[in-house]
Amino acid sequence: MEKFTEDETGSFYNYLSEGCKLCQQGAKMVLFVTGLCPKSCFYCPLSDERRGKDVVFANERLVKSDANLLEEAKLMDALGTGITGGEPLLKIDRVLHYISLLKFSFGKEHHIHLYTSQAPDRETLEKLAKVGLDEIRFHPPQAIWDKLEKSPYSEAVQNAKDLEILAGIEIPALEGAENVAVFAEKKGIFLNLNELEFSENNSEALLGRGFSLESDTSNAVAGSLDHAKTALSTCKNAHFCSSTYKDAVQLRKRLQRIAKNTAREFDEVTEDGTLMYGVIEGEARMDREIAEKVLQELEVPGELFETKEDSIEIAWWVLEELKEEMKEKLQAFKARARLSVIERYPLEDGMVVELIPL
Ligand code: SF4
Repeated sequence: MEKFTEDETGSFYNYLSEGCKLCQQGAKMVLFVTGLCPKSCFYCPLSDERRGKDVVFANERLVKSDANLLEEAKLMDALGTGITGGEPLLKIDRVLHYISLLKFSFGKEHHIHLYTSQAPDRETLEKLAKVGLDEIRFHPPQAIWDKLEKSPYSEAVQNAKDLEILAGIEIPALEGAENVAVFAEKKGIFLNLNELEFSENNSEALLGRGFSLESDTSNAVAGSLDHAKTALSTCKNAHFCSSTYKDAVQLRKRLQRIAKNTAREFDEVTEDGTLMYGVIEGEARMDREIAEKVLQELEVPGELFETKEDSIEIAWWVLEELKEEMKEKLQAFKARARLSVIERYPLEDGMVVELIPL
């Protein structure tokens, strides 16, 4: 694999599409346009919350209006969007609407790629090209990986290329992927292979087919990497995305972008993209009010804390430094309050990663 660049998560590539480059920066919003899909791939990772349901999500946010979608894109300062599902093209009007909306709101340079398990006809591709789709990734079923040239995917790929939509194939790294690599090479398109992984919803099907875990510490399927290595050795424009990549890089970078956008002056943004700050929680409203007075007495600048309904959030390093003095003063006023440092995801009601009582 000498000609491939490898990263610390075990992903490797000799080519990255624009969509992948933005994904690596954590700058791609994932737009899930429907959970409906006519296929039933045994490895389908969709959760119960999404599978078979006609719901829309932007990253993890349920989208009920265009405003929800735009808010999420702004929150993470998205430079592009990956449209996925289910089968997005079952809802072609929705897809066309979202592409137009995103291009109108963020400019033509907002890069959009689309996944589909279908081989869309020329007319559909023309509509997608017209609203500005930049990249399309076909996901043909495993049963026809050895006969793609004679399948409708061959024509769809050609049409996409003619319409100047960057075309590629994205499939899990499974037996037969080497045939897809030959097809991609012949067609002059890129190939993305994803390491097959166990998820809550596909583990029974994977175990039933004799797949097993690569190790105790990852969800990767044993042997998937070997299929990728065989397949990619024949491909000029190829990328293997490891199962640890999503958690280790993609999510962390997306969180970092959101944290940078939303952090208050006194929040510390960690390397993982989480926020750290101190919290003073009064048992009663009065306790919180007393705590606020104590902060004023201790001359803590107003920009280093924020008063909430039932707590005060404060720079953690200030709280750490003043904790003994604060406790004494609170006791003198007979106020009851808990002091702690919290680390959480930079989202509304974001998950608490750690809470350290002081
Ligand atoms: S095409 Fe995608 S969404 Fe549909 S069953 Fe296969 S993996 Fe699941």
